Amino acid sequence: SSELQLGVSSDVREAGSSQELKIYIPFESAELCVTQIAEDMKAMKKRHLQTVQELEENFHITAREAQEWIMQKVRSHYQNKMNTLRTFLDLYQDRVEKKKADWEKKVAELTAQNKQLLEEQRAERRRWKEETLQWQKEKNKMLDLFSSRLDVLHCHQASTLQELQMARQEIGQVQEILTVSSSQEQQEAAEEEEGSDNKEQTVACSVSDQPLEGANARLEGLKESLYQKEREISELLEAERSPIPPVPQPHCSVLLPTVITKAHEICSAVAESRALLKQMIEDNQVALAEARDKLRLHLQSTKDESNDKEKTPNQEGSDESSLSFLQETVREHEVCQIALDCIKSGESPVMNDYEMSEMEDILRQETLPTTQRTVKGVGQQLLLLQDQLKREKEERKKIIENYTSERAMRKKYYNMVEEMKGKIRVFCRIRPVNRSEATQGGAVVVDKLDDYSITVEAPRGPREFQFDKVFSARASQEELFQDVNRLMQSVIDGYNVCIFAYGQTGSGKTFTMVGDKDQKNPGIMPRSFSAIFDIMRENSSKFDFKVSAYMLELYNDRLQDLFVSQAGEAHSQTQSHGPTKRVEIKRNRKGVVFAQGAETKEASSAQELYALFQQACANRHISATRMNVESSRSHLIVGIMVESRNLTNGSVNTGKLSLVDLAGSERAAKTGAKDHQLKEANSINKSLSALGNVISALSAELPHVPYRNSKLTQVMQDSLGGNAKTLMIVNISPSEYNIDETLTSLIYATRVKAITNNAQRNVDSKEIVQLKEVIMKLKSGQTVEEVDV
Ligand code: ADP
Ligand code: MG
Repeated sequence: SSELQLGVSSDVREAGSSQELKIYIPFESAELCVTQIAEDMKAMKKRHLQTVQELEENFHITAREAQEWIMQKVRSHYQNKMNTLRTFLDLYQDRVEKKKADWEKKVAELTAQNKQLLEEQRAERRRWKEETLQWQKEKNKMLDLFSSRLDVLHCHQASTLQELQMARQEIGQVQEILTVSSSQEQQEAAEEEEGSDNKEQTVACSVSDQPLEGANARLEGLKESLYQKEREISELLEAERSPIPPVPQPHCSVLLPTVITKAHEICSAVAESRALLKQMIEDNQVALAEARDKLRLHLQSTKDESNDKEKTPNQEGSDESSLSFLQETVREHEVCQIALDCIKSGESPVMNDYEMSEMEDILRQETLPTTQRTVKGVGQQLLLLQDQLKREKEERKKIIENYTSERAMRKKYYNMVEEMKGKIRVFCRIRPVNRSEATQGGAVVVDKLDDYSITVEAPRGPREFQFDKVFSARASQEELFQDVNRLMQSVIDGYNVCIFAYGQTGSGKTFTMVGDKDQKNPGIMPRSFSAIFDIMRENSSKFDFKVSAYMLELYNDRLQDLFVSQAGEAHSQTQSHGPTKRVEIKRNRKGVVFAQGAETKEASSAQELYALFQQACANRHISATRMNVESSRSHLIVGIMVESRNLTNGSVNTGKLSLVDLAGSERAAKTGAKDHQLKEANSINKSLSALGNVISALSAELPHVPYRNSKLTQVMQDSLGGNAKTLMIVNISPSEYNIDETLTSLIYATRVKAITNNAQRNVDSKEIVQLKEVIMKLKSGQTVEEVDV
């Protein structure tokens, strides 16, 4: 290579200094040199290649080694990891298995428990079924027992009635005997007087006197027992009528056991009398059979003897008398049998004319003491039975009386409880049949059952309605007001009270609330005016009262102040006082409704208040419809505020009495109303249906009550579901012509009964009253210094 380098350098030198120095190398040597170099180079190349190969091989080897080492390292690393994972896995597996075992154990436990429970349930069900069956059986047994007892009672009732009838007949017969015997006695007495004294006759007389005396004594006894029973009944009635002293316990609970014991007594008495009757029948049958046998035997023996024909006349006579005695005995038992059978079957004895005359003959023959004894025996038995019947009848009457009084008492106490709970009270008043209904001849379909319920003969069968009080057509205005009067005390005590009448036109709402036209029968309104002032007078030493009133009319959904005249006067008033004020219904903080914009006038006596009322009535819209010429087509609302200041502690109560005479609730088509009357009817119907919706919402206890839908419901907001004591009087017509309206009204009223109010007294303490006065004075422009705080 040095040579090559030399050669190159020489070439460079040659190229650089070609001009200055030229070296000449012989070709051979050059060739030799070149070949030498080439060979060297070849060798070098070979060596190079060898080293490269070696290096490559080395590299490969080291690379493989390194790879293997890395591989090994990685493998071992992963192996380690694998091992740890495996240990983890094993651990987890262990745990899982443990858990699994636990769960399996638990599942097994639960299934066992479940099985046990199922079995228990099955057993329980079985027991339940058995118990139900047992109960059912008990129930059926009881029902059977009751029905059989009822049957027995019915049978007994029927038979006792028959017995009574028979007994009456018997008494009649006894009386006949008496008259007959007394006439005979008279005859005999007359004969005696004539002087035909015969010893035999006197004997006959004395014989005939005995039965007469017996009959007389029986009659006397009968009369005596009758008087006694009458006395007992009147005593009982008086005891019922006399006022029962107030006891803390309700009477029903006292009466009920008495009723039950009485029922038991009756049942046992019935059973006893039945057993007695049965015994008597059996005894009689035995005696009859015996008597018949004896008679047969006797007849046979007499036949045999007659064949022998060896008898003395004396013997013959004794035979005849014993035969007749036996015949009489048989007859006696036969008669007894018939009488007892009749008593048992509850029929009166059937006798043909021949038998009757025979019987009469027997009864008349006083010389037949055995027949008489028979009749006497039957008569005595009948008397006994009659007595028993009477006693049982009385007991039945007593039980019925007890039951009815208990029922009435229960209803009364129930009503009291309901009132205490704040339920709206609903009275129902049935109007008398009016002239047009009477001429049309329509049937009366409404009937008052008792003081608390009525039935209506509806087309689909009778319907019963329950109310807090029912007033029949005969009930007077006073009677009605007696039940309303206690509300007046509540007004004075500071409660809000609302009384309103509801019903179709002509059903008597205005009659009930206002009275008739000429005020011969004043209604609730005028009566309440007097009642309020009466109570105030009684309490004038303890309280200071102030009475004021507003009177409104709700006509065509507009509130009108009735103290302001509508017609010509209104015009003059408008001129003098400016336009009439708009009346609006507002509620104060306590929820009490008041009429803003309506005039409130004070009254110092019932007469003054009544004069105000009459003035208001004169301003009403009244239009005649076909249903009722005096019908009012608007709702009348009278509000009376009573403020009472307690003179001892200074507290002030403010009670309000709202009296509402609603317009008629009938359908427009029936009244024959037209044009503006139709508008009236529509507005009335609208307000009444709004009232209906309010009632529905309240009775169903819905969260929202749509009071705002109509002025009427706004006015009555504090009376329906509010804080007032409310009384609704549902007026109904009794006739078939109005049955639809009657049913609607009654259903409406039944819903009202379900509404509960929360009546509270409106009381302000002395301090609050004074503060209010301060505020009032401030409002009217006075300074605080002027006010006596
Ligand atoms: P409403 O106000 O419901 O339309 P009214 O009170 O005007 O009905 O009664 C209609 C008619 O029936 C009136 O002539 C009234 O005198 C008479 N009337 C209503 N109820 C009675 C009653 N209980 N006794 C006597 N008359 C009655
Ligand atoms: Mg009316």
